[in-house]
Amino acid sequence: MAFQTEIVKWYLNNKRDLPWRGTNDAYVIWLSEIILQQTRVEQGLPYFNRFLESYPTITAFAAATETQILKLWQGLGYYSRGRNMLYTAKQIQELYDGKFPTSYSELIKLKGIGDYTAAAISSFSSNEMKPVLDGNVFRVLARYFGIETPINSTSGKKQFIELAQSLILGQEPSVYNQAIMEFGALQCKPKSPSCATCPIQSDCFARKNDLVNVLPVKEKKLKKRTRYFNYLVCVNGDEILVNKRNPGDIWQELYDFPLIETDDNYLEAQEQFLTMLKNNFGNTCTVTPLEQKKHLLTHQTIYVQFFALDNYIINFNQNAEIKWVSLSELDELPQPKVITNFISSYSVN
Ligand code: SF4
Repeated sequence: MAFQTEIVKWYLNNKRDLPWRGTNDAYVIWLSEIILQQTRVEQGLPYFNRFLESYPTITAFAAATETQILKLWQGLGYYSRGRNMLYTAKQIQELYDGKFPTSYSELIKLKGIGDYTAAAISSFSSNEMKPVLDGNVFRVLARYFGIETPINSTSGKKQFIELAQSLILGQEPSVYNQAIMEFGALQCKPKSPSCATCPIQSDCFARKNDLVNVLPVKEKKLKKRTRYFNYLVCVNGDEILVNKRNPGDIWQELYDFPLIETDDNYLEAQEQFLTMLKNNFGNTCTVTPLEQKKHLLTHQTIYVQFFALDNYIINFNQNAEIKWVSLSELDELPQPKVITNFISSYSVN
C-alpha cells in the first residue's frame, strides 16, 4: 500500500493545474485524452482549448464537418485520430442521444477508443475501478517493481495489466490513475528521472539495482519505410493546384500538391527525374527545384522535394482529386504539416 499512498500524496502536492483536471465531464476528458495521445501537454493544450471553444458539447462536435475537424487538428499529426473523433461523436449523438457514455464496457465499443482511453474516461468520469496504462504508467511500474518483460510484448502487457489491476484496488480510481500518470510525466521521467527527490526511491527496484536507464524494456520496432515525395507547385495568378489525398495512405483526405513518388532521392537521381518530367509534362516545361525537407512519421521517413513547375502541357483538371484553388482558399483546407510549413516559408506568387 505504501506505493499507492506515496504516489497519491506526491500527486496532491505536485500536480499541474490543467483544464481537464477536476472535471467529471466525459466529453471533456475524451477530448483531452485523444488530443494528448502521443502529444506533449504543452503542444496539446492550445488544441484542447480551441476544440472546446469551437465545440463545447459532444452534440456540437458531432455536427462539424470532417474538413472543419481536420483544419482544427492540423499540425497534431496522426490525422486518423481526428477523423475517428468525428465518427465517435456522431455515433454517440445517434446511439446515446448526445449523452457521452461513462462505463468502460460501453466506451470500449466506440471507434478510436481503446483500452487506455476507455479506462481513463470511465475512471476519471465515474470512478470505475479500471487502471490506466499509458507510457508513463508502464515506466513507473517497470522501474519500481523491476519488471524486465518488454512493455510492448503480449506477455508484458498481460503482466502489467494484472499488476496495475491489483494496485488500484482500495484506491479512489480517478485520483490514483491521474496520480501515477502525473508521477511518470514529472518525476519518473523517461530521461534523467528525479530519483534523488523521489518519495519511493528507498523501495524502487531500478534505483537500488542501477537499472533506471535500462527499464522499461521495449521490443525492437519494425524498420522504418523510406519514401521520396516530389511535389509539383503549379501557380497561376493567385491560384494554385492542390490534390486531395486518397484513402489508403498517410494524410488521407488532407490537401497537398500534385505528387510524384519515386524510389530514389531526387538529389541522387536528378537527370532521370527531370527527363521523366519532360516526358510527362512536355519538353517545354520548366522545373525549378525548391526546398527539400526530411519529414519523420512513426513508421516512415519521407524526403519531400518541392519543385516549381511551369510551361507544362497537361490538363491536371482531368484528375478529380486535383483542382485549382485561390491562395486564401488553400489557407482554409486541412493540410499535412510539411505543406503548411512549405507555404509559410515560401512565398507563392
Ligand atoms: S527512484 Fe527514480 S526510477 Fe524509481 S520511481 Fe523514483 S524517479 Fe522513478
